[in-house]
This record gives sequence, C-alpha cells and structure tokens, in this order.
Amino acid sequence: MLPRADLVVVGASEVLTCAESSATGSERIAGGSVAMADGRILAVGPRDEIGAVVDLAGAMVMDAAAGVVAPGFIDAHTHLVFGGSRAREYAARLTRSREEVVASGIPTGIMATVSMTRSEGVDALLDAAVERVGAMLAHGTTTVESKSGYGLDTPSELKLLEVNRLLDEAQPVDLVSTFMGAHDFPPELSREQYVDHVIDEMIPCVADAGLARFCDVFCDDGYYTVDQSRRILEAGIAAGLAPKIHADQYSDLGGADLAAELAMVSADHLNFTPIEGLQRMAEAGVTAVLMPLIDFAVQHPRPIRARDWVEAGLSIAIGTDLCPGGYAVSMPLAIQFACRWNGLSPDEALHAATAGSARACGLDDRGTLKAGALADLQVWDVPTLEDMVYRIGHNPVRTVIKRGKVVV
Ligand SMILES: [Zn+2]
Repeated sequence: MLPRADLVVVGASEVLTCAESSATGSERIAGGSVAMADGRILAVGPRDEIGAVVDLAGAMVMDAAAGVVAPGFIDAHTHLVFGGSRAREYAARLTRSREEVVASGIPTGIMATVSMTRSEGVDALLDAAVERVGAMLAHGTTTVESKSGYGLDTPSELKLLEVNRLLDEAQPVDLVSTFMGAHDFPPELSREQYVDHVIDEMIPCVADAGLARFCDVFCDDGYYTVDQSRRILEAGIAAGLAPKIHADQYSDLGGADLAAELAMVSADHLNFTPIEGLQRMAEAGVTAVLMPLIDFAVQHPRPIRARDWVEAGLSIAIGTDLCPGGYAVSMPLAIQFACRWNGLSPDEALHAATAGSARACGLDDRGTLKAGALADLQVWDVPTLEDMVYRIGHNPVRTVIKRGKVVV
C-alpha cells in the first residue's frame, strides 16, 4: 500500500528543492509537485512520478497557479526579542554623526536597548516579538534563530530566553534559541568581572533551564577579545551549548580563526576576515552567515564580497539580523541584496537562505524539499527564481505551509 498524502501542491512553474546533491545547490523541477502527510514531505517530483509512489486520492489539492515552490526560509541570525524602539536614533543617524546624535541626548546603541529591555516584562516583550515573527512568516520564514543579549544580567537574560520559549509555542514559526550574554558589557561590572559572571553564573543557569541550544559572543574591537570569547564559548561547550560567533564585523581580531579552531556551527558577519581565515573556516566546516540588510542599515564601510566566500569553498547561510539597530524582517529582500550587492547568484542565495541556514542552525530536518524533511514550504507569485531576485522590494510570498499546515 502506498503512503497516503493529506496535502499535495500542484501546478508550480518550478519546484526549487535546494537539494544538497545538485551542483548549483538549487535543483529545479519544472511543473513539479510536492506531496506531504503528517507534517512531513512524502515525495517531490513531476506529478505522474509522485502518483506512482504516493496515494493522492484523499489529499487536499493546492494549485500553485504557475508560481514557484521553494522551501520555507530559515533566518539564521536575529536579535528579534528586545524592548523599546530605536527608530529615533536610526532616523537621526541618517543625517548626523554618532557623536552628534549622542550629544543630542537620544539614547543610542546596544546599551540603550538593554535599558529599555530590562524595564519590560515578559508579556510586553512577547507581544512585540510575536508581531515581528508574524511579519517574517508573511515573508516566507518558517524557522528563525533568536538570540538573547539585551539583558546583560542573569535575570534579564533568562527573561529573554523564556520569551524565546513562549514565542516558539505562540505561533507557527520554529525558534532556535541562542544565549548571547556576551553581546556587550553592562555598566555595573568591570569587563573581567562580567566575563567571569557569564561563565560562572549565566551559562550554568541557561543550560540547567534548557533555554538555549547555542552560545554566541560578539568578538570585535571594543567588545570581546579572542581570549575572552574562547573562555566563554568553551564554558558553553562544557555545559552543552554549541558555539557561534559574531566575528570580524569591524576589525580582524582573529574571530574567524577561533571559529575554525572550535569547529563552530557558524561564524557571522566576517566583513574584515582575510581570505586565509575564510579558507580555514571552510576546512573546519564552519558555515558563514551573510547579513546584507544590517550592512545596509548601518551603512557598513566594507560590505561583504561573497564571491570570496564561494571561492574559499565556504558553506553560506543568510540572516536578516533583525535587531533594534536594523529592523529587517524580509528574507526575500535579504536574498535580493545578497545577489546584487554581495555577488551571489540567485541559486547560491536561495540555497544559502534555506539549506545553508539549516546547517548554520544545526538542523538536518529542513531547508530542502525531499522525502522525509519537514513540510515547510512556500509558494510565490512569480514564475521563476530570477523574477524573485529581480523585483527588488517585492514580497513574492503568496502561501506558506508550515509542518504540512497552510499558515499564510
Ligand atoms: Zn547579531
């Protein structure tokens, strides 16, 4: 007896599987169909072939109406749980220097958000985060990584990770939770005292509560040194939190080498990483996370040359880096930028935003359309991947299916 599908998507102009086996990273099946049951994909392929291996008789049929079918996006890097707003700072910084904005009395930077976040309760933080994730879902995101790091004391960091847990339950998008107590330094302690505090108190609390899968640090000039980063991430590893790193965004401290040394699941930003560092990361199997929209939002002086990443042999992921300093929810826009501004091909960018981001989040059950994977997929209102990349600012997402259920 054939397995019975409960939903089948038909009539796609092309199905982009993002299967790892294909040379371009984006296998295309013209006119393909996807059959699923109980939240998992049963078969992907031309409709006749699917009909030979799956019983479609009782399945609900969804017509893709000559649009593209692709895996749900996986947003590999966000700071989406935070209190307050930095819209005033963003607007002021469009025409004035940081010094002028600070002198004008507008609260700025990570510490401004820390104080706004500490003063908000779980409910208010959760409500704002649910709204943000709802906007991400409407742009095709079905899994999102979310970091703490605007608490910088134990109760506030635990509060943010608790919001991650509640957020995962409150809406359809899956959350991947990351502890990032080492996002900045709080004013109450010396830097060395705070590093000890992260290691001796925060990491054991987070691990005991089971509130995070990863531990991340901001390794850069003015933030955490390579030695401090190594101590924190090794403590995380010992407690069962896999390491990630914000590396080389504003200077080359050697964060990429640390990522290679600890065989991290991902290293993120990498604007100043030299070619040799990229190559060492590739050899160690570290996925590089590309975030064009934050570089745009901060008008970064050195946008990523992602062709260097491809030539170094790196596995690449894409994130929006939604955060108070760069309010971006759209993975389609991140892909459009990754292509035009950073030099990825449409196939490379789509693969990065799906299969690559799954890898950066340590997930092997999603990011490609294949039998056995989670039934996380989306239908676009454009006929080809190239049309999606070409229509800058257009949200092509017409339908989103999460774990086999139509949610958009
Ligand atoms: Zn970040």
